[in-house]
Amino acid sequence: MCGIVAYLGQKRALPILLEGLKRLEYRGYDSAGVSLYKDGEVLTSKTKGRISELEKLTSKNKTDATMGIGHTRWATHGKPNEINSHPHTDFSNKITLVHNGIIENYTTLKKWLVSKGVEFKSDTDSEVIVNLIGYLYSGYDSDCEIPDTQDKFEWAVQRALNKLIGSYGLAIICSDYPDSIICARKGSPLILGVGDNEYIIASDASAIVEHTKQAIYLSDNEMAIINRDGFKTLTIDNIEITKDLKDIEFSLEEIELSSYDHYMLKEIFEQPEALERCFGGRVQLGESKIVLGGITDMARKLTRAKKIIITGCGTAWHAGLIGEYMLEQLARIPTEVEYASEFRYRNPIIEDGTVVIAVSQSGETADTLAAIEMAKERGAIVLGLVNVVGSTISRMTDAGIYLRVGPEIGVASTKAFTAQVAVLAMLAIELGRRRHLSNLEAASLLKELDSIPDKTRSILKQSEHIKTIAEENYEQNNWLFMGRGFNYPTALEGALKLKEISYIHAEGLAAAEMKHGPIALITNGTPAVFIATLGSHYEKIISNIEEVRARGGKTIVIATEGDENIKAFADHLISIPDVPDSLQPLLAVVPLQLLAYHSALLRGLDVDKPRNLAKSVTVE
Ligand code: GLU
Repeated sequence: MCGIVAYLGQKRALPILLEGLKRLEYRGYDSAGVSLYKDGEVLTSKTKGRISELEKLTSKNKTDATMGIGHTRWATHGKPNEINSHPHTDFSNKITLVHNGIIENYTTLKKWLVSKGVEFKSDTDSEVIVNLIGYLYSGYDSDCEIPDTQDKFEWAVQRALNKLIGSYGLAIICSDYPDSIICARKGSPLILGVGDNEYIIASDASAIVEHTKQAIYLSDNEMAIINRDGFKTLTIDNIEITKDLKDIEFSLEEIELSSYDHYMLKEIFEQPEALERCFGGRVQLGESKIVLGGITDMARKLTRAKKIIITGCGTAWHAGLIGEYMLEQLARIPTEVEYASEFRYRNPIIEDGTVVIAVSQSGETADTLAAIEMAKERGAIVLGLVNVVGSTISRMTDAGIYLRVGPEIGVASTKAFTAQVAVLAMLAIELGRRRHLSNLEAASLLKELDSIPDKTRSILKQSEHIKTIAEENYEQNNWLFMGRGFNYPTALEGALKLKEISYIHAEGLAAAEMKHGPIALITNGTPAVFIATLGSHYEKIISNIEEVRARGGKTIVIATEGDENIKAFADHLISIPDVPDSLQPLLAVVPLQLLAYHSALLRGLDVDKPRNLAKSVTVE
């Protein structure tokens, strides 16, 4: 996962790299490092821990170097210690690089290099890349001669990249090349920001936007060679290509904390406006229809779909489950939901008329990308539901619907989840309207959808009340989250939020399943969170609440405003406004996000950078 950043320009590189790494820290925070080029020498500083540690380590470094590369790591190969931290330098001490991704054939390459006498310092797969480039650059490979028609550094990088299996986003420098950075990508995102006499390369636009809004998004198997006179883009097979400069579509303010203590809290509180943006121009109340610009060309195919398969990972998979309920109930299209990591490795049946919907906040999730490739090979129409504009998924799908919620930085997804559900709701209602829903039904659902942002605002006002519930329960180490119907996936999402940021073991369940095993976990005081809103499952879930209470569990109940009856069943009550069953997850998840947030804070944890996690999972 990790984040990479590189700078070549007129200003001091170190502060720019450190600032960029802070913006990318959500991608990984096991260790961090920078390498700066100055007068034929590359100086590397790296350390275990966060960017703040790297800042301390480099605080006395007053170098005016104007070129360098940096890395914040989420370890895949090798412990998160100083030696395994990036940047890595090759055995000849000439080539230095930062890497995001996984090299799958690193053992074979390492054995080969070791047999040639190359010594390795770290346990990472990344060091194989730098040593391979160094080996080729130094002219040791007797099987191939360095051509005099091509620049040596460029040639060695290309030749090495062609031997790699796996994924990479790379920024590479060479001490013989004072003013040159080579960057390349395959499977891991990489953007080249083009400013006024300066270039900044990064894993995502948040590290670039402060310097320039013009950028080139590299695609797989492409590289850019940057020096002080300009840059060129080419494939890793040395074919020059022209890439368009694109605008980075968000502002610096959107990625700043402003008055909030944490990105997660900011993003929870941004949900009303984020949903308004997501619905804007799409939910057309006057005409009782939904216009989803990104899919107009395939609206017919979608309406006639015989089967829909939704695929995603983690929170996106939960949104997909809600989508399944919605698409089956409202549009009456048979729908399945698959973990992308499972879907891609089985032999799924994709017949004519199958539509695959890939859901991913970042648009870079490695397993989801692979699932899309497989679905396309088998002839499915693939639709992307992503947040990051220009991301790989948005470019490789046949059509797509952006979430439009702005950058999400907190590692635990909140506003992207509600927007994923909102987009799936719009899709289900619109397909339903085209297939069989009456105009009246569709119009009434649209009105309800339109009311969600304001209703979310009213739930957010209960943050302090939810905090008091967290205060009474945060020391408990086992929680259950239960819901039925549309709110079963909401319960899964509530449990995931708590696990992710408070490290409390939590299980989400379809409430009726409790009796088939998990009820054994309930002892005196076990927090059991129920989504027991008014709707088709109300009576049934009340019985489930009774079953928990009879065994000493403590019930935290999310109920519908004005429901007096429920009070008798709740040790703690959180009320949310009424909406139809199908839209309830959009509201019911909000108190669960706040419950997780407050519990994690009470446990003294870093909610924005939870242990072992990273935001966009760009490795398998
Ligand atoms: N595989 C590299 C390492 O373990 C990079 C990790 C990543 O991109 O997350 O250091």
